Amino acid sequence: MFLVYPGDIMPIYEYICHECGERFEIIRPIKEADSPIRCTTCQGHQTQRAVSVFYAQSGSRIIAGSNPSGCAGCTSGSCASCNSN
Ligand SMILES: [Zn+2]
Repeated sequence: MFLVYPGDIMPIYEYICHECGERFEIIRPIKEADSPIRCTTCQGHQTQRAVSVFYAQSGSRIIAGSNPSGCAGCTSGSCASCNSN
């Protein structure tokens, strides 16, 4: 399950453009993760969200979803168990 943080956490999503092959990252609200987005390089519409490492930016810290040093509960990058780190 996705843990919802208080505040305005903005995950970074990676997209692939099928028109020019560019990969680009966009910081956008979680609820807009799967909304259509135009390629930042060619402005094409044939983009797809890449399934890759999930990053969430919280203040000055970066939380990586595949953090090997995280606790056993870290599977989605939103683990509350190792927030203190
Ligand atoms: Zn493109």
